[in-house]
Amino acid sequence: MAKAVQITETGGPEVLRVTEVPDPQAGPGELLVDVAAAGVNYVDTYHRDGTYPVQLPLVLGVEGAGTVRAVGADVTGFAAGDRVAWAMAPGSYASVAAIPQTHAVKVPEGVGDDVAAAIALQGMTAHMLTRSVYPIADGDTVLVHAAAGGVGLLLVQLAKTRGARVLATGSTEQKRELARGAGADEVFGYEGFADRVKELTDGAGVHAVYDGVGATTFDDSLASLRVRGTMALFGAASGPVPPVDPQRLNRGGSLYLTRPTLAHFMTTREELDWRAGELFEAVAAGSLNVRIGHTYPLDEAAQAHADLQGRKTTGKLLLIP
Ligand code: NDP
Repeated sequence: MAKAVQITETGGPEVLRVTEVPDPQAGPGELLVDVAAAGVNYVDTYHRDGTYPVQLPLVLGVEGAGTVRAVGADVTGFAAGDRVAWAMAPGSYASVAAIPQTHAVKVPEGVGDDVAAAIALQGMTAHMLTRSVYPIADGDTVLVHAAAGGVGLLLVQLAKTRGARVLATGSTEQKRELARGAGADEVFGYEGFADRVKELTDGAGVHAVYDGVGATTFDDSLASLRVRGTMALFGAASGPVPPVDPQRLNRGGSLYLTRPTLAHFMTTREELDWRAGELFEAVAAGSLNVRIGHTYPLDEAAQAHADLQGRKTTGKLLLIP
């Protein structure tokens, strides 16, 4: 039997139940993995509370790292004993998980399971945003919200690596200090941030805003953009953004608005290996620092969700089975 965090109904953190489930089997194209660390992501809370519809019962979690125990039919390139990490694969809050090989990458020597689990989804999201959604050019100025968060701290560092001037928000002085430590050039709170951005850019605005906060920041994020700037709305930590009149993009200066998800930016083996490979290389080279804010036993998944949604966390949260 495997230990797993399952939901049978949607709701608050209290619907998370630690339970025993039959060991999953590796179906065709799947890897059966002993999970060393499962990543906690904001999307897990959307699955838990029904913001994103899911089929019940569901073992939560879409990210992790561990060691392959067995491979299913038609698997190529992976074998028992390989250390792997994965993103966007359900069932990760468990001691054993069946992961589609299309979502898994091998973890190189020298990168620990905890770091691999921490960058599989959030690192690839930051990579997707800075390399593909709005590919940063040297000298661009960008705005990153919730810069001390899991995605945020990685995003700031990758944006700096691309040569951007990075403006960043965080709700507390401790969070702002972490964002500065990650390389952000200017860091401030959310109150009046669009005015602050305009001040810091001589009235022009930024080339792109990376906004995973959503409802409470969306309007000011649009107002922070320069002519033909890009609004990359990639999450809704403060709630979903109401419908938008396209004319607002015209009035704002022929703006681009996009709502990307990582699932559409890891659609081939080449793309997955490119993103993961660059992240692992950066970790190995010491140019990408991965902050594990807190590690919880699997039994405390509900506490991890409460802390994440209560804005009490920084960096990455991991669950250890
Ligand atoms: P974080 O670690 O960034 O935690 C969320 C942060 O959002 C909080 O710490 C808080 O930082 C900020 N926040 C602002 N307003 C609120 C609010 N009302 N309630 C809670 N938090 C708030 O989480 P993740 O790194 O896991 O995810 C960040 C965002 O990225 C999420 O929206 C998530 O859905 C999205 N995401 C999207 C992906 C995609 O493919 N599109 C993939 C991965 C993540 P502060 O206190 O400083 O404001």
